Amino acid sequence: MMLLLMLMLSVVLLAHSDDDFCYDEEHCDPYAWGDNYPSCHPLLDSHHSPINLDHQLMKNDSLDSLNLEGFNLTHKGQWWLTNQGHSVVLEVGNGMQVSGGGLPGTYRTIQLHFHWGSVSSNGSEHTLDHLRFPMEMHIVNIKSTHPNLTSALEDPTGIAVLGIFVDVTYLHNENFQSISSALPSVAYKGQTKSIRPFPLVNLLPQNNLTQYYRYHGSLTTPPCSQVVLWTVYEVPVYISWAQFEQFVSGIYSTEEEAANHVLLHDNYRHIHPTYGRSVYASKDAKLLTNGVSSLALLNLLNVLLLLIFKHLAFCI
Ligand SMILES: [Zn+2]
Repeated sequence: MMLLLMLMLSVVLLAHSDDDFCYDEEHCDPYAWGDNYPSCHPLLDSHHSPINLDHQLMKNDSLDSLNLEGFNLTHKGQWWLTNQGHSVVLEVGNGMQVSGGGLPGTYRTIQLHFHWGSVSSNGSEHTLDHLRFPMEMHIVNIKSTHPNLTSALEDPTGIAVLGIFVDVTYLHNENFQSISSALPSVAYKGQTKSIRPFPLVNLLPQNNLTQYYRYHGSLTTPPCSQVVLWTVYEVPVYISWAQFEQFVSGIYSTEEEAANHVLLHDNYRHIHPTYGRSVYASKDAKLLTNGVSSLALLNLLNVLLLLIFKHLAFCI
């Protein structure tokens, strides 16, 4: 009897750990994560992510470009792209590490993944002066003194994440082709596909790597550990609408065998207050540090152009 009870309990626990957080149902969405993961409760003294990056930041001239070792190389072996039900994750193997730019040590790169919106909504996790981008890519690195992720989660600066905004344009981005080609093979949760390694630097805003924001925050998925040094690049990378659509209309949070297939969309966590945390702008950061926000001016210009186009269309 006891054995049966223990067996039943372990089945319940396994089921629980498999599907205990989500983005689209009230009982398991980001506001409910704290029920299963107490460390996801945003208490007053906590420093959670993501945040809005705004004008309350401090210019820090010692923040120059990071050393992205091995990012420009084509590594041997293969990488693995997997649909984990909450995101699409690319595990990148060995050979890359991140240091400098004010990071307290060397961090080895383990994986990257994406957060996105839907066909009608933007889905970056961080916002830039309240502007949400269509997508955000996270390159996850753990401090090289730690043997694994579990160990890094015990260290207040155990993880360094590079956040890259992804915007949509009419041009196809050839640098995302390896990922774009493999996405249809990982449409359903649990599916995985090998990818031939490529220089990871190709996915970064290559001419603007010295422009970024830095703050201390958390993982944006359970267990929401407050152990992350964030580097969020100011300038986005661009992909085409067709490439964006592969994420928002082609990736499911459910398994292929499921009776109902549910699209994975809007897989981002809500914005958290900074609660007096320091948010720094790198030496070369521009958009939010030029007095009057050039980003606000850019937004205003976009609205004006849109109005002009609408007026012209009406006249024609
Ligand atoms: Zn992420």
